[in-house]
Amino acid sequence: VILGGGAKIGAGRRRAVFRVQSEVLRCARRFLEARGFLEVLSPVFEPYTDTGIGDAGFFEIDYYGRRFKLMSALTIHKPVLVTQLGNIFSFTPCSRREPASYSPAKRHLSQFYQIEVEMEGDCQEAMDILERLTKHVIDGVRTSCKIELEILDTILPSPSLPFNRLRYKEAVNAAKNMGVNFNPEAGLSWEAEEEISRHIEGPLFITNFPTGLAEDRGILYKVAGEYLMDFDLVMPNGHGEVSSGSEREVEYEDILRKIKPDQRDSFKPYLEVIKRGVRHTSGFGVGVERLTKYICDLENISEASLFPKVPGTQ
Ligand code: AMP
Ligand code: MG
Repeated sequence: VILGGGAKIGAGRRRAVFRVQSEVLRCARRFLEARGFLEVLSPVFEPYTDTGIGDAGFFEIDYYGRRFKLMSALTIHKPVLVTQLGNIFSFTPCSRREPASYSPAKRHLSQFYQIEVEMEGDCQEAMDILERLTKHVIDGVRTSCKIELEILDTILPSPSLPFNRLRYKEAVNAAKNMGVNFNPEAGLSWEAEEEISRHIEGPLFITNFPTGLAEDRGILYKVAGEYLMDFDLVMPNGHGEVSSGSEREVEYEDILRKIKPDQRDSFKPYLEVIKRGVRHTSGFGVGVERLTKYICDLENISEASLFPKVPGTQ
């Protein structure tokens, strides 16, 4: 009996995937600890959580008569934690009610983990850490998981630094030239992102998403005129995005303006903390199952989760 049920791969392959995943976590932890990041434990539910989850919804629980949300990400909590503790990282359990219509992408789960990182500094510094972290993890797997990569019958190239960068506008044009039809004002559709991902040789940063996408991407994504100071990291071979991040909005008034009136009540304790001042931070979250899917070249993200929860199915 295979716990979790979803993965229809042989025991040898299954063990190889989770041995690789364990190595991913070990390498990430080693890299971040060596650079002075402090590991913290994320909560599982809170009165409020990150709102930048695109088309997904929240899962809620009854907490002594109040509706609390299962954490969608640690994003909005992180600048506060950095203010109190210095640079941090967390292996965060995340829950999101993704639309069932996303299932053909084979890249969405209702429950997944992120390697979340937050640091004092600007967007470029966060991208610098993310690309080095990604390279460190991939090179670590290449060195320590040779047998597993052989069982999985995949060749994992070592990425070169720095990763290529494309502004959102250029990414939209590239996807259109590849024949994908989508509305760029609604963001890159997963189909567009997948097509771009099929045409790149190494990891690619997409930067400068338009301000119009601020609500989709998160209340803390810093607005700078027409653009957000943000980035996505896309891996090759059709695996698509593995990470998103940004420089953070840290001014009380700017954050308050972005919180919808009907959410102000649940965010009240958070806003009280922000009012006292938080540090200027940047950060990102790397999807653990997404990165595992890329590294192991898996067809479906369900194979990268021990207990896969597929949106729209029980
Ligand atoms: P986001 O900030 O929404 O981009 O989430 C950060 C990262 O978490 C993404 O780049 C993905 O790698 C991962 N992620 C987000 N949503 C899901 C999902 N539904 N299933 C699996 N991984 C996800
Ligand atoms: Mg994203």
